[in-house]
Amino acid sequence: MSVARFWRKQVQRYNLVGTHCKSCDEYFYPPRNMCPTCRRNGKIESYKFNGDGEVISFTVIRTAAVGFEHQTPYILAIVQLKEGPKLTTQISCGIDEIYLGMKVKPVFRKLGDGGEKGMIYYGTKFIAAE
Ligand SMILES: [Zn+2]
Repeated sequence: MSVARFWRKQVQRYNLVGTHCKSCDEYFYPPRNMCPTCRRNGKIESYKFNGDGEVISFTVIRTAAVGFEHQTPYILAIVQLKEGPKLTTQISCGIDEIYLGMKVKPVFRKLGDGGEKGMIYYGTKFIAAE
């Protein structure tokens, strides 16, 4: 991954910035430059999600990728934002505290370090909203 692309992705992670199609009122995260429904007629604008969402699927990770070993077990979930887009994210809570339909909100946390490249990844995780 190029440095520019890396930082662009970092900005997206920090800010939950996606896009919104003004023509059909669809929201996209990660951002899309073209609306798959409206195509050329879509009017795409940048949109910052506040991150309110709910857990629609989750799994407990016990064998982690390089750089995440110290965090196991952790919860990887699909969160659906209230505007509609779904994203895969880590949920910061006990593995017996999570349930389907749990309301969540984003927090910014260290996600892991990039092993030999020495990069530290920060980004959005989600926690219980209540
Ligand atoms: Zn559209």
